[in-house]
Amino acid sequence: MRTFPGGFHPHDHKERSKGQAIRCLPVPAQVVLPMVQHIGVPCVPTVKKGDAVCLGQVVGTPDPENPRRFVSARVHASVSGEVVAVEPRPHPFGSPVLSVVLQNDGQDTWVDGLLDETDPGGLDAAAIKDRIQAAGIVGMGGAAFPTHVKLSPPPDKPIDTVILNGAECEPYLTCDYRLMLEQAEEIVEGLQLIARTVDAKHLYIGIEANKRDAADVLRRAAEGTGIAVELCRVKYPQGAEKQLIVALTGRRVPAVGLPLEVGVVVHNVATALAIRQAACSNRPLVDRVLTVAGDGVKRPANLRVRLGTPIRHVLDDARPRDGVRKIVLGGPMMGLAQHRTDVPVIKGTSGVLALRAAPTHTWRACISCGRCVDACPMNLLPNEISIACEARDVDAIAATTILDCFECGGCAYVCPAKRPIVHWVKFGKAELAKRRAEQQARQAAG
Ligand code: SF4
Ligand code: SF4
Repeated sequence: MRTFPGGFHPHDHKERSKGQAIRCLPVPAQVVLPMVQHIGVPCVPTVKKGDAVCLGQVVGTPDPENPRRFVSARVHASVSGEVVAVEPRPHPFGSPVLSVVLQNDGQDTWVDGLLDETDPGGLDAAAIKDRIQAAGIVGMGGAAFPTHVKLSPPPDKPIDTVILNGAECEPYLTCDYRLMLEQAEEIVEGLQLIARTVDAKHLYIGIEANKRDAADVLRRAAEGTGIAVELCRVKYPQGAEKQLIVALTGRRVPAVGLPLEVGVVVHNVATALAIRQAACSNRPLVDRVLTVAGDGVKRPANLRVRLGTPIRHVLDDARPRDGVRKIVLGGPMMGLAQHRTDVPVIKGTSGVLALRAAPTHTWRACISCGRCVDACPMNLLPNEISIACEARDVDAIAATTILDCFECGGCAYVCPAKRPIVHWVKFGKAELAKRRAEQQARQAAG
């Protein structure tokens, strides 16, 4: 079975939602569309209060004044109706973000010309990338990096391999699993379109072995295409880019490097589907499929949800139980805990979890058991990193391999002393960034 060194297997908690076919969540009366739904340059609104908008219309575009605007992704209206506010609103990342608020007229009137079917066979690489960029597509596994940027490697870094990530290793989440079961042919077409944009010859779909039925469906859909559908050992974080690349190709991405350094690009299966829709019908990203689950809901589900839908609306559909102590957007390992339910679903929201049994641990000093070292998929020393951070010793932090940590949470999960290692890692990275900024300011001042 293909796999990577390190990692561990948490209880996957997928049993309650995996049998739930994708259904459409009723569209709310209002949607809130933040100008930040991706990694990169924020968008600026292209509409103002009182404007009428159509479904699929651009309401936010990368700031034209920003020289790095290529690394950004447009925002489109996810309902038709009227702009009722352009103002900062609560956001899943924490601080309020400038958002376009739309009152839904219930008509779903698309922008003229969108959704006209095209044969993508006639599109060359540049045309496919243009459609992906126009559609505002980002990585939908949670990373939310603009897809057209990922598909534009520098000329000296050719890509020969594309991997579709169907691992879905985070507990509770089953939305990718359902997409693979229900829309396998479109996912395969999406992978072929991605391959065309970068001229890649080796194509893989990596799936954890607890989703063998999805792998079988994809194998049938991929027959005769040369795509290898591979099962990987069920282990967290099998779906992390670098770990999936090692498992499927044996190539190791250098520390602090990108997959393109080893000629690989990785995309989530939901992203491939969005690419296929953009290439075939110019459909912008106005909705996504997510899982709502956890012991705090009576009716777990996999839902197609319009972007901008408040998570309260998602939770209401899932019938919340009393005693919910934690709401998480994404999976429980790398997701973002929320302290309010009026934040919207954004492009990277793969799950809404309501947990009653969220533990409130008191943590202790490190007992040097080494479990975090065994679990770390990056071969780091999480114990030493956390001790340096806890001591607030910036020189000691700089001497660790903290920048190789991608905050998967595995070390904190296995730690018997319940040390908040990822919290310390975030703190340590922020301290290093602060020191770097101070050094640059001193150099600039001469
Ligand atoms: S959070 Fe970082 S240090 Fe901890 S296991 Fe994951 S990669 Fe390793
Ligand atoms: S698992 Fe926790 S207690 Fe054990 S070595 Fe790592 S940080 Fe220390």
